[in-house]
Amino acid sequence: MGRWLACLLCLALAPACLAQRRLKALIVDGQNNHRWQETTPRLKAILEQTNLFLVDIATSPPRGSDLGGFRPAFSSHEVVVSNYNGDPWPAATQTDFEKYVAGGGGLVVYHAAANSFPQWREYNRMIGLGGWGGRDEKAGPYLRFRAGRPARDPSPGRGGHHGQRHPFQVIMRDRRHPIAAGLPEKWMHHADELYDSLRGPAENVTLLATAYSDPATGGTGEHEPILFTVAYGKGRVFHTTLGHDLEAMSGVGFASTLGRGAEWAASGRVTLRIPPDFSSPGDH
Ligand code: ZN
Repeated sequence: MGRWLACLLCLALAPACLAQRRLKALIVDGQNNHRWQETTPRLKAILEQTNLFLVDIATSPPRGSDLGGFRPAFSSHEVVVSNYNGDPWPAATQTDFEKYVAGGGGLVVYHAAANSFPQWREYNRMIGLGGWGGRDEKAGPYLRFRAGRPARDPSPGRGGHHGQRHPFQVIMRDRRHPIAAGLPEKWMHHADELYDSLRGPAENVTLLATAYSDPATGGTGEHEPILFTVAYGKGRVFHTTLGHDLEAMSGVGFASTLGRGAEWAASGRVTLRIPPDFSSPGDH
């Protein structure tokens, strides 16, 4: 009888337990050529407003100081959001991170995090494409979008560039992926840097969205990767090149894709609804 009662209680409480279950997210920051002191609180707020995440923050010591004690608890979280672009991590921290992602951990690569760690091979495999930090053809190909499909372009040249900041249209190239499903095919993004000419190993990449890098604003004339995922071992990586500053982070499209990408990286699925005010092609 006691067992029956326990089962009934369990069934009665299960929906409530599930509803209260939060995904544990860890934002890593502390060094960046961007204003991480402003952008981390915004990232945290965007994630918390979904009611899906509990958000912790791991802040490294400043650039040029001893990082020997910087060893975030990656593995006690379901998704790590990197807002870090700075000095190399200690070997033990790198190993922790590689094991965490390869073992099935989620990772969100946010804007300048793709500039970090040009020499760390496994990190570059996780992020798929990176820029700056001396990256060139030795880092891997460019990933372009030509004739309706992703195309690896091995031609030599620098990795990482952007033209003038401006609002631009994002075009979804994969409408079936859980992150992308249901989003408008085209939407306007607030004034931001449109990263171009990123290069890297580009292994196991699913290209979700591109934007046209217009030569009129200093761009390449190519459709450049804007949102994509990378499979790394058992881990899921969501890479958003968007979000240079608070203005660039202020649109519904940025927040919605960040939340969806983080949920997918953490759990492999997306339950977040698309906000009704998600911008249409003409808006910004
Ligand atoms: Zn930037």
